[in-house]
Amino acid sequence: MDLQQRIKDTIRDVPDFPKPGIVFKDITPLLQDVKLSADITEAFADYWKSFPIDAIVGIESRGFIWGNAMAQKLGVPFVPVRKKGKLPADTFSYKYDLEYGSAEVEIHKDGIKAGQKVLVHDDLLATGGTAVAAAELIKKAGGEVVGFSFLVELGFLNGIESLKGYNSKVHSLITY
Ligand code: AMP
Repeated sequence: MDLQQRIKDTIRDVPDFPKPGIVFKDITPLLQDVKLSADITEAFADYWKSFPIDAIVGIESRGFIWGNAMAQKLGVPFVPVRKKGKLPADTFSYKYDLEYGSAEVEIHKDGIKAGQKVLVHDDLLATGGTAVAAAELIKKAGGEVVGFSFLVELGFLNGIESLKGYNSKVHSLITY
């Protein structure tokens, strides 16, 4: 069976979480299958290995899982983007609108060096707001966004449209 099918067969759909009408794509069953989780890391690293990447930024919290694993495979640093108030040292922050209210994310000022080429990684692309926030933090730090990497893309939400402005590669292992 190919990797895409194995992932689709293993991801758990949880209806009405965290609120009615949302089908949550639960990736935790993938982590219980050690071989599958390792194959996912391999597939990400294989895809991005030919791109010039100096660092990988992973988005809290599920973006840390394969983001860091891929960074180790590619031999580049991993830099976390976290929700406001979680990172202890000096940060850049970026506020963005959600369907209801707003959110704010941060990155350590010394996480990215000026001129570095950076890959953004998260588990899932929905509307794209979170990935854009991470990209804006990278720009604030003086880095250049070279790509966006996701395990899952919810194509029907067209989040890819909001990433067009960065003129960089967008790759997802599976799309719904
Ligand atoms: P967005 O900013 O709309 O692209 O949302 C992406 C972020 O929200 C990612 O960090 C995802 O982990 C999370 N997310 C949004 N929708 C879902 C979903 N249906 N299932 C699982 N995670 C989701």
